[in-house]
Amino acid sequence: MSPVPKDSKPAVPAQVEHAFRTLIEWVGDDPDREGLTETPARAARAWLEYCRGYQEDPGRHLARTFEEVGGYDEIVLLRDIPFQSHCEHHLAPITGTASIAYLPGAHVVGISKLARVLHGFAHRLQVQERLTAQIVDCIWEGLAPRGVAVVIEAQHGCMTGRGVRTPGVTMTTSRVLGCFRDDATSRREVFALMGR
Ligand SMILES: [Zn+2]
Repeated sequence: MSPVPKDSKPAVPAQVEHAFRTLIEWVGDDPDREGLTETPARAARAWLEYCRGYQEDPGRHLARTFEEVGGYDEIVLLRDIPFQSHCEHHLAPITGTASIAYLPGAHVVGISKLARVLHGFAHRLQVQERLTAQIVDCIWEGLAPRGVAVVIEAQHGCMTGRGVRTPGVTMTTSRVLGCFRDDATSRREVFALMGR
């Protein structure tokens, strides 16, 4: 037997493919028409990818830290990182940006790692409030910083495409810990850096 190449498509269990067929039928289309024959398996694989965050522990991205920071003791901010998630109530897309800031204690991480933590939690079924809290808590525990602040702005497909159908409405959530919670001056400074 030849080894399975790394980029080969994951197998889709029959009952998963069947679930997508049933859905297509239920909304009023014919899963056997030409354009839809491959769709159940393709959609199943797409969902596995949307939810790939379940396959990882986002905290592992913070495992490798640096202590040599050349005397730098100010806020580190990654601003307006685009992300996509899915709401756990409707499986509808959540599209937005996150700004992640921390005031380092003894440790800093490579800046791309903050985005990886965001995506690790975003690639799951979510509510925006919990996504915000999970990122903050993960950085708080992983880096032991003096403060951490996260602000997320996002549009929810379940609001723009169904229900009240209000395109353009953005939901904002924020969570702060440490000095950004306890000290009003620090909080003002970090929110000003984030442009709000
Ligand atoms: Zn929803």
